[in-house]
Amino acid sequence: MSPTATTPPVLTSVQIPCCVCGTMILPNAANQCPTCLAQEFNLTERLQRGPAGQKHIVIHQCRNCRRFARTPTRYEFAEHESPELLSICLKHIPALNQHDLQLVDASWIWTEPHCMRLKVRLTVRTELLSVVVQQRVMVELHVQFQMCPECNRDFTNRTWHALVQVRQVRNDSKKGLAALEMALAKNKTIRQHVLKVDTKKNGFDFYFLSNTHAQTFTNFLQRVAAMRIQRTTKMVSADNHSNTANMKTTFMAQMVPLCRDDLVLIHRKAAGSKLAGSLAIVTKVSSTIQFVGASPKRTHVSDSMMELSADQYYKTEKHYQMLQAGHRLVRFVVLDVELCDEQAPSGQLYEGPHSGVEKYALADVTVARESDFGVNDEMFACVTHLGHWIAAGDVVLGYDLVNSVGTDDWEMQEQLHGGFTLPDVVLVKKAPRNKETAAVGVDEQEGQKRMTKKRERRKRYKEGRKQKELEETAGRMGFFDDINEEQVDEEGEDVDADFEAELANDPELAAELLNLERDLAQLDDGDVVAEGEDNQLVEEDNQDS
Ligand SMILES: [Zn+2]
Ligand SMILES: [Zn+2]
Repeated sequence: MSPTATTPPVLTSVQIPCCVCGTMILPNAANQCPTCLAQEFNLTERLQRGPAGQKHIVIHQCRNCRRFARTPTRYEFAEHESPELLSICLKHIPALNQHDLQLVDASWIWTEPHCMRLKVRLTVRTELLSVVVQQRVMVELHVQFQMCPECNRDFTNRTWHALVQVRQVRNDSKKGLAALEMALAKNKTIRQHVLKVDTKKNGFDFYFLSNTHAQTFTNFLQRVAAMRIQRTTKMVSADNHSNTANMKTTFMAQMVPLCRDDLVLIHRKAAGSKLAGSLAIVTKVSSTIQFVGASPKRTHVSDSMMELSADQYYKTEKHYQMLQAGHRLVRFVVLDVELCDEQAPSGQLYEGPHSGVEKYALADVTVARESDFGVNDEMFACVTHLGHWIAAGDVVLGYDLVNSVGTDDWEMQEQLHGGFTLPDVVLVKKAPRNKETAAVGVDEQEGQKRMTKKRERRKRYKEGRKQKELEETAGRMGFFDDINEEQVDEEGEDVDADFEAELANDPELAAELLNLERDLAQLDDGDVVAEGEDNQLVEEDNQDS
């Protein structure tokens, strides 16, 4: 550590001795000479810290083309101990981007070319207690192998044998994919076999080394979301002499385009459907879709509940018509609730599966639009499945059919059962305590009004945003940074926080996912034993060798 060139002593000013070593100096806030100050504040630790506070800094090198990563997507050729490599190293030291540190000089400290360590000597200047000090610091960077995007693309194209294409064809497909996102973010075991993930319109492409991996992966997806899987195999090349062929298999995973809270018109002709000829709300999406009638008869609620598998759905796809989605939900204030079952004790609310209260119970409810308060006295009566969820004074989210669906909608009437009366209001769920969800709904509505005006521009913008959102989703699932452990953990925490909140509200989903993970762990063990060699191929590149 060397002191800065101190200002030459000015004879006219008063000098004091440094309180540590006694050298005569001009008075300063610390009453210490720069040498002593610099010793007290050691900058090594600060300069040595990684971007997320890690104990060391990692530089990625592609094992295949030997290039170094300047940014995660840009790899460059640089000789050992070259100025180019030095500049890449400096770019990786986060502390140097802070404006109170000034880099004066940087040079190499020799290391073995293959030891996976780079050492640089930095001279930095900073101001401590308004005294300028200069310090020489050695920073060590760890080199880790990570295939660059170009090599990775080549590698994937040569090695993948199975492709899983997940699609959900609906305007806000992001919502439906969210469940997959959460499940994948939670489950590292299932992710580790994915060679590469590409974002596509309405979904993702996942590449795998082998069929077995892809099959396991689709089994997993099928339990998280209702989907139809179609499998096609294509021969890429064949060797007549050895009688072998290079086959590539594509699994097309088509997610049922229905999401929780959707209002669905189930056509009269929907064969075998309990709720045929009526409107229904989607209450849950997992391996199957669960519905509850939107205007249930006053019998037991189970008479109005129905489950639909992906196979059943795709058999008569046209008979399930999504009328309104979650962003059209409007806030209603509950004025009165009366359970339809007069024997039932009133006032009990559902508080999770262990509260001893049935999740859904039919009730006659009177509500008013929240926006009508102080404007008019319009009230609506309806029968809802939310009897155990709401009390007078609560705010619920529901669809306002008076304002959005004309009763003279001939096409819709045609599909409804003769005995079905179209409700004015369909209540979907209790409003979350914070207004966030509702606010989003309003924004979307506004957006759609504007869309009629600036339709084209808006549409293009939306599509761009949608693609970006899908890419962000892939990032959250942990695919873009599986190699950098520390980043995964950090990202994972974010996703986990949201996810845990979701799980706290939905213990059923939590239990389901737990079972899923257990099943998968078993599935996967068998898989690893059977195809140990394949696995090594993928993981080799992830090692911090
Ligand atoms: Zn001193
Ligand atoms: Zn490369």
